[in-house]
Amino acid sequence: MLVIGLTGGIGSGKTAVSDHFARLGAPVIDADVVSREVVEPGQPALLEIVEQFGADVLQEDGTLDRRVLRQHIFNDSEAKTRLEQILHPKIRATMRKQLEETDAPYAILSIPLLFETGQNKTVDRVLVVDCLPEIQLRRVMQRDGGSEREAQSIIDSQSDRNLRLAAADDVIENNGTLSELKARVEQLHQKYLTLST
Ligand code: ATP
Repeated sequence: MLVIGLTGGIGSGKTAVSDHFARLGAPVIDADVVSREVVEPGQPALLEIVEQFGADVLQEDGTLDRRVLRQHIFNDSEAKTRLEQILHPKIRATMRKQLEETDAPYAILSIPLLFETGQNKTVDRVLVVDCLPEIQLRRVMQRDGGSEREAQSIIDSQSDRNLRLAAADDVIENNGTLSELKARVEQLHQKYLTLST
């Protein structure tokens, strides 16, 4: 099966793109979704997080209190690394397992940190969703309701846009309307079907 790694900066349109691939029938495995699955009650990652950070990361019903966990790693890069060491291997393994259980000509793995985690080397093609910095900033602020400074600092903390674009096999320029975005996804759907035969 042809495996496409989908990535892009915050608010670039990854979800809009992967939703449309899914509508066209392509299996989509989303790292953000899997990252929530691996910390559900009963999963080993949740136990390890409690061991590392203490029982206050649990809510009364036994589910992870993300707000408290965020406070534990806020401004503490060492704690953030420890959390990533717990989560990343489990997210990867779960995504791989879900991929193995999938039967289709091609599949989309949506991974925001594709380059940062070196997973660009584990997929057949890299698809980058990109938009102009001013459009990205506007969409993030509209969606999340935060200040320009907050949105800009998240954008600045992510991998460099030009490096991402240079390493892409395919690019979706998401500067226009959602119907233009869908049309481009449909083009790529046909391309991936052809490439997979
Ligand atoms: P994140 O990195 O935060 O998960 P994302 O890359 O998945 O974000 P989306 O959630 O798909 O990005 O898009 C960000 C916001 O911009 C959403 O509110 C979405 O509806 C909007 N958006 C995306 N593409 C377009 C477009 N072409 N026209 C108008 N709005 C758009």
